[in-house]
Amino acid sequence: MKILKIDHLGIAVSSIDEKKNFWTEALGLQLEGTETVEAQKVITAFLPVGDSEVELLESTSPDGPVAKYIEKKGEGILHVAFRVENIEEALAELKEKGIALIDQVPRKGAGGAKIAFLHPRATSGVLVELCER
Ligand code: ZN
Repeated sequence: MKILKIDHLGIAVSSIDEKKNFWTEALGLQLEGTETVEAQKVITAFLPVGDSEVELLESTSPDGPVAKYIEKKGEGILHVAFRVENIEEALAELKEKGIALIDQVPRKGAGGAKIAFLHPRATSGVLVELCER
């Protein structure tokens, strides 16, 4: 498996509209538009930071994973995403190493990326996302 870089940090927010100002006004990052990923009940907004990005995530529904996360832990860092060269290969390798996966096969994420999550019990509580673009 080849990890190319930290692709993005996923940050759960109650409302992108209400919370984006810190990122855009205070930090001066550019918000590149939003995208709804209905399968994950989420609206995402990407803000490039050098070679990586910040991803703000807002739930579209009270029973979505981001809403549940905020209910349990409050807003904050939801996941760390590593860009991999080949996501199928990476998942197969991790499975072989006995790493618990949430996604056995990649699903479709924002921006047409292929993404998969590893189980936090395998990663010291950090939700790790693999993504291939
Ligand atoms: Zn993400």
